[in-house]
Amino acid sequence: MSIHKYLSASVGSGGRNYKQDVGYIQCMLNELLKNERRFEFNVYKPAELLKIDGDSGRNTEKAIRQYQRKIRMSHPDSRVDLNGHTQKTMESKFNLSQLKGFSQVALALVLPKKIDNSKPVSGDVVYDLTGTPYERAKTFIKSGNASKLSYPIDYVPKSYVKGDHAGARWFGAHRSDNRKHAGVDLGSNVPRSKRISKRVPIYAMDDGKVLLAPNQFVKNQPDVGSIIIKHDCGVIVRYCEDSPSRRLVKKGDSVKKGQKLGCMGVFKSTSSMLHLEIYGDANRVDVKGKERLTNRGSKPYQRRSDLMDPTTILEDCKSRLPSTE
Ligand SMILES: [Zn+2]
Repeated sequence: MSIHKYLSASVGSGGRNYKQDVGYIQCMLNELLKNERRFEFNVYKPAELLKIDGDSGRNTEKAIRQYQRKIRMSHPDSRVDLNGHTQKTMESKFNLSQLKGFSQVALALVLPKKIDNSKPVSGDVVYDLTGTPYERAKTFIKSGNASKLSYPIDYVPKSYVKGDHAGARWFGAHRSDNRKHAGVDLGSNVPRSKRISKRVPIYAMDDGKVLLAPNQFVKNQPDVGSIIIKHDCGVIVRYCEDSPSRRLVKKGDSVKKGQKLGCMGVFKSTSSMLHLEIYGDANRVDVKGKERLTNRGSKPYQRRSDLMDPTTILEDCKSRLPSTE
């Protein structure tokens, strides 16, 4: 069976550009380029994701070109030819079921109403593959509610990229074929040799209520847990890898913005960080109080479908450090 069955004609500069073909290529480009970074104002930012709209405009052509450069094509031409090198290279990165998912998204462009992209559904392949964690973060910032959040630690790490495990800290970083990093890691600023005794405090980003504070976040690592808070501005923040024995809050507590929650834990002897995850729908709470933010079936982040890109939100609130007494 040929896997090149979801494209019917060329896409991009000078191509036929049938709507569903363009949508299909846009879906793949978003996957292939979403871990590419732009260096801007001293931080790495995620590459802009394409809007899956089936229109081969300047951005789509630019993205095709960027991908062709990435695969070191000698003459990038901003066009994906039917069964050409670019298409084959792109498709070789995905499995059949993923390609089918892309083609369904693309098909929805010519069959409106069949798939409603505006409402993310838990575990829905359409949601994750269209890169909405980043778009949702942008929308959240535009809504003005992000401005109510303050930074969760009292300094801004030099970079979210370099550090204890360079390149692994940012949202969306590759973890395995099945999983991408669902949060951002804010590393300890304490020298490794002093990390056990000197802990970095963690602060609430907004007023809210502690939904849960489990003692375990990483298996067999007793010094890292997580604190899950429903914040008044409409998000749930999971403050992960805190030290359970140094915690100052418990399940059910109300917290004030800037209130100290606890401190960073230490695992694998010297690793110490705040792994931060942000979810956009604070009202989606399991009544049993069971923590259901992790969803192993929801690829590629294995998280609930309202997961947002925390880097973008932190960039917005890094000028608002908590005031420390
Ligand atoms: Zn992390």
